[in-house]
Amino acid sequence: MQNKENNEVKICTRCKREINCYDKTCYYCGEEFEVEYPDERAAYIQKNIGTYLRKFNKIDSGDKASSWNWCAFLFTVDWLVYRKMYKLAVIVLVATVVIDLVAQLVFFSVISNELAASLLSNFVTIAYCVFIGIMGDRWYKTRIDKLVEESAGIPDEEKQQHYKKGGTNIIAVIVMVLLAGTINLLLP
Ligand SMILES: [Zn+2]
Repeated sequence: MQNKENNEVKICTRCKREINCYDKTCYYCGEEFEVEYPDERAAYIQKNIGTYLRKFNKIDSGDKASSWNWCAFLFTVDWLVYRKMYKLAVIVLVATVVIDLVAQLVFFSVISNELAASLLSNFVTIAYCVFIGIMGDRWYKTRIDKLVEESAGIPDEEKQQHYKKGGTNIIAVIVMVLLAGTINLLLP
C-alpha cells in the first residue's frame, strides 16, 4: 500500500503506526518483521536495503531532485570503494587530484592574497563533494541495475556467488585510509 507521498508503507502489527514497507524493525516500537524484498536489487544492495530501495524507487518515478546521499558527500571516494564502485572510485580520485592541482595553480597565481586563494580552493573542494553527494545514489543505482541485468543470464544455483559482487567492502576502505595516511606521512 502507498501513503500520500507515494511511499510504500505498511502498518506495524504491534503499535499500528505507519512505517516503511522495507523496514525490518518498527521505528516506533521496535517490533521486528520478516521482510520480503520485491525486487532483486535487494540481493545486491545488502546493507541499508530499505533506504536504497526507497531512493531508487524515487529516482525511477522521476523524482530525481530529492536524491541526496550524505555518505557520498562526506566520504566521497571512500564511500565509492565501500559500495564496490571501484572504477568510479579511481576516476573520482584522479579527478580530485587534478581539480585540486589546477585550482591551486590558478588561484595562487592569479590571486596574490594567499588566504583568499586557499578559501577559493576549499570552495572548489566542497563543490566537488556536493556533486558526489548529488550523483551518489544515481551512480549506485546504475551499478545495481547493471548487476541485476547480468544476473538474468545466470542459473539460479550460481546466483548466490553473483550476489557477492554487490554488498559492501569495509576492508578495502580501511586499507585505502591506511595507505593514504602512510603516503601523507612519507611526503615532505
Ligand atoms: Zn510498531
